[in-house]
Amino acid sequence: MFICILSLPLFHTFISLLTLFLGDVRVRSRAGFETERRGSHPYIDFRIFHSNSEIEVSVSARNVRRLLSFQRYLRSSRFFRGITVPNSSNILDDDYNGQAKCMLEKVGNWNFDIFLFDRLTNGNSLVSLTFHLFNLHGLIEHFQLDTMKLRRFLVMVQEDYHSQNPYHNAVHAADVTQAMHCYLKEPKLSKSLTPWDVLLSLVAAATHDLDHPGVNQPFLIKTNHYLATLYKNTSVLENHHWRSAVGLLRESGLFAHMSLENRQLMESQIGDLILATDISQQNEYLSMFRSHLDRGDLCLENANHRHFILQMALKCADICNPCRTWELSKQWSEKVTEEFFHQGDIEKKYHLGVSPLCDRQTETIANIQIGFMTYLVEPLFGEWARFSNTRLSQTMLGHLGLNKASWKGVQREQSGSGDDVDPAFEEMDSDILPQEPRLS
Ligand SMILES: [Zn+2]
Repeated sequence: MFICILSLPLFHTFISLLTLFLGDVRVRSRAGFETERRGSHPYIDFRIFHSNSEIEVSVSARNVRRLLSFQRYLRSSRFFRGITVPNSSNILDDDYNGQAKCMLEKVGNWNFDIFLFDRLTNGNSLVSLTFHLFNLHGLIEHFQLDTMKLRRFLVMVQEDYHSQNPYHNAVHAADVTQAMHCYLKEPKLSKSLTPWDVLLSLVAAATHDLDHPGVNQPFLIKTNHYLATLYKNTSVLENHHWRSAVGLLRESGLFAHMSLENRQLMESQIGDLILATDISQQNEYLSMFRSHLDRGDLCLENANHRHFILQMALKCADICNPCRTWELSKQWSEKVTEEFFHQGDIEKKYHLGVSPLCDRQTETIANIQIGFMTYLVEPLFGEWARFSNTRLSQTMLGHLGLNKASWKGVQREQSGSGDDVDPAFEEMDSDILPQEPRLS
């Protein structure tokens, strides 16, 4: 649709940049996808979002990429072109290792600084933290997991996140996993959760944004991306994260010793958890949560109820940035805005129409954050505190209030007035608003 507005030379440039994946390409066929024959629709190659030098396509790698995620294809194409990339899992200085280990002793603290932990582990925060949590919760022993397979699985997960994304990268996944661990420890949950519940929760948290391209669903829809077609424009990214996670689970053989029935159940329940992170479905989940709390009928001995609470917990973990200390929260705000604005820059460059919240000329971090907190975070965490009225919940609400006040202060300084809420957030029920990828 948007092509008709482009002049012919511009159209050709546009096509040459955006149609790098045409042809018969299979996507994660091992993960159970139908074979996809890409049609004549132009679609976006995720690589254009990052570095220009990465755009060249190696013909020799064409077959290999059929089985790889976009992120893993990038690495393999570098390999085929003889470009060496520093190994992120190299040996760390003992001192750094010691400090990282020390931090893990406090992995259940809400003040846990994931950015520092990522530096101390040389960019391996997701692998180190998740492996540690598997051990801490006794999952390795309980499910008789092969630790080599577990580590290999976690390395694949970490590598399938796009490190070039300012926000949706492996550090965000590690942060969400750490928050999920904090929620699993809450008294109401910890006394009723089974090892199976904990296993699903940690895997879902670690993989919930797997292979995220750094743009949102409307962007994929308006550029006719094949993922939008594959998932019929519904929870496009979340479905992709889930199916990518399933692909890695199967590839790693981590649970190959379990029965087929259990593996299928696991895949489907992980899907339920990841799909719940679609922020456009927030109102539905929130009203169900509210109704349960009003009726007081949540019974955590009931597996379905427990599963629902785990969905709510993962939703909270996913958007808990404003509930962290100001030092951590501010860094996340800057990173997510950078990702929005990057999308806006591409949309401007290719005349795609700039998405809400993505225009660096008209938006500010403060406005975006205040809208995000008011319409999404406060309602969710308010209900969570009703469910689990603990010190952690009060701490999170405390940070949320303080952080909002800080952004209001920034907003006043910038505009000379206060209380401006981004109008985009006032359209919560419409499709344009805040699509998960940009805010989770
Ligand atoms: Zn997320």
